[in-house]
Amino acid sequence: MVKIPEFVKSVLWTLGSAGHQAWCVGGCVRDLRLGREPVDWDVTTSALPEETMAVFGGRAIPTGLRHGTVTVRTEGQPVEVTTFRKDGAYHDHRRPETVTFTDSLEEDLRRRDFTVNAMALDLRGTFRDPFGGLEDLERGLLRCVGEPDRRFGEDALRILRGLRFSACLGFTPEAETAASIRKNRELLRDIAPERVWVELSRLLTGQWAAEVLRAYPEVVGVFWPELLPMVGFDQRTRHHCYDVWEHTLHALAAVEPDVILRCTMLLHDVGKPETFTLDDRGHGHFKGHPARSAALAENMLRRLRVDNATRETVVRLVKWHDRNIPRTDQGLRRALRDLGETDLRRLLAVKRADNLAQAHQDLLGEIDRAESILDRLLAEGACVSLRQLAVDGRDLTALGLRGPAVGQVLTALLDAVVDGETPNERTALLERARTLLPNRC
Ligand code: ATP
Ligand code: MG
Repeated sequence: MVKIPEFVKSVLWTLGSAGHQAWCVGGCVRDLRLGREPVDWDVTTSALPEETMAVFGGRAIPTGLRHGTVTVRTEGQPVEVTTFRKDGAYHDHRRPETVTFTDSLEEDLRRRDFTVNAMALDLRGTFRDPFGGLEDLERGLLRCVGEPDRRFGEDALRILRGLRFSACLGFTPEAETAASIRKNRELLRDIAPERVWVELSRLLTGQWAAEVLRAYPEVVGVFWPELLPMVGFDQRTRHHCYDVWEHTLHALAAVEPDVILRCTMLLHDVGKPETFTLDDRGHGHFKGHPARSAALAENMLRRLRVDNATRETVVRLVKWHDRNIPRTDQGLRRALRDLGETDLRRLLAVKRADNLAQAHQDLLGEIDRAESILDRLLAEGACVSLRQLAVDGRDLTALGLRGPAVGQVLTALLDAVVDGETPNERTALLERARTLLPNRC
């Protein structure tokens, strides 16, 4: 069983011995009850921010004094200590205009988003749960504290937090909360794209991500409307037993919960509806869909200001997802040269998940073969990059090459090695380089 760790207990104890109330609150209490390891520990206290600062002295960092938050450095993780507060009127569906401190724990719990996040636990094990969070937790229900329309109207990010909790914890939004999530979804337009991505990326890596996306496509469709044409799109091909959206969700569920892989699966076929054609036998085709999907993915990820590394990798995997990689040494050396080991392994995972979500799992054996060739090539130290080539730029300069020609010849030599035309040996490479010299005499 997970318990309050010593470094958090010491924060509670220090506040308590200075005469203040101090409680663990929010996600950490929820996770304790679920037997999960909490991500972070939040403490709520009757002490005013300046009192908290005074109690902890040099260990206190004023990270959000206006909102009552002081971060306390401990022997373990930093702990956020926030004064009991109630929120004033909200504007822009984003933030409260004013924050008022209070001496009532119950008022502090009332401003929290969901009942399962509105429970508190103190050092002696006293448990406070005025909104029935524990009962909802035991029944697996996600319910707003108070009236859902009002709570989502105050802060629209809660809509996406709700779906994220549902995807990560397996909670089902209770009927009124669920209806309100759908009804108020347009308010998400007021939320900063970076914050949308933080929640969406967590949602995608949740164990129940596919279920949540299946139940709420129109909510994600507020910022990613490109997804919506996939819903119910009949593929008209014997390769598929699902429509495009169902295939996408099955593929997403079949890949491990890593944000790049999950995002790739969500977007890999997003260009299918636009590229659909029907032949005279009534069979559907999607020629060029990986490139179209990649172009759409690029736009969608930029819209949410996703970091460059994640965006570029996802777009690349989407572009490559349907490419045939011959199960030969040459085929895999080429793929390694073009993608590198990390992305090639990701691509194989993408291909596996894609095939698992099709009518026939006829490619899995071939994907395994590709992987074992890959393992062997790496173990043998196969040359697949300029870095590994047995000659370098200086060798070519010594042959009289200058400027861009050096890089071009090196690349040509690497291609020759990858394609098995030349061994990766200095003499053979220099010999071949001479045949490639621009003004050979
Ligand atoms: P996680 O597992 O991601 O840490 P969490 O529930 O702890 O989940 P935090 O963002 O750490 O989420 O917030 C801590 C607590 O603060 C929440 O449990 C909730 O009580 C409250 N909270 C956070 N964001 C909001 C919000 N937008 N509206 C209302 N209450 C919120
Ligand atoms: Mg938390």
